Amino acid sequence: MIRLKYILQEEKASKFEPFKLPYKFDALTKAIDAETMRVHYNKHYKGYIDKLNDAVKKENIAVTMGPGMEGIRTLLGGVGQYSTKVRNNGGGFYNHTLFFENLTPTSKEPEEGLLYDMIKESFGGLEKFKDLFSDEAKMHFGSGWCWLVYDNNKLRIMTTDKQDNPIMDVVPYGGSPLLGLDVWEHAYYLKYKNDRVKYIDNFWKIVDWEVIESRLRMCVNRGYA
Ligand code: MN
Repeated sequence: MIRLKYILQEEKASKFEPFKLPYKFDALTKAIDAETMRVHYNKHYKGYIDKLNDAVKKENIAVTMGPGMEGIRTLLGGVGQYSTKVRNNGGGFYNHTLFFENLTPTSKEPEEGLLYDMIKESFGGLEKFKDLFSDEAKMHFGSGWCWLVYDNNKLRIMTTDKQDNPIMDVVPYGGSPLLGLDVWEHAYYLKYKNDRVKYIDNFWKIVDWEVIESRLRMCVNRGYA
């Protein structure tokens, strides 16, 4: 029996708030050191959120918060009409929330189930998928993100620049993100320096496959494209 994890919040918030980590900063050292986690969460992530709240207020954007990050998803779905500040910081908030949620100290690869089956169908198997995803992440030039997305009943790997993401209306060939990997230098430079390849290879040791499975099931149940 697969436990369903999906803990993103927003519903009762009056403004965008940081996702509360279900693990400690020093819990992911198989791949990410405590200092990187601390700076990434306390400085970068919270910085994006402060600037996003500021921009939403100054630009008088009406946001209706909802369960499962509905408010930010709606905002980003039409982000093309807003400022670069909303695009960058709204993306920064959403992307990092997904990223921090899809990490865990106790990673366990799936051996069966919907995600396992769809990965096999789309990529030929779990190891093949990890290789393809890693290659995309390693090849991405400059700051950005690598994603596994659900799109039209299929899984696909894609990358985005800066803080853009697959749910933005300004991003062609998007989808619903199931797994996100931050490939900005701030995500790994303290520990790995310029060795992005090693950071990406170690990333698989802390991936929360249960979260990915939960996101996939939500997509399938809701019929998201
Ligand atoms: Mn980051």
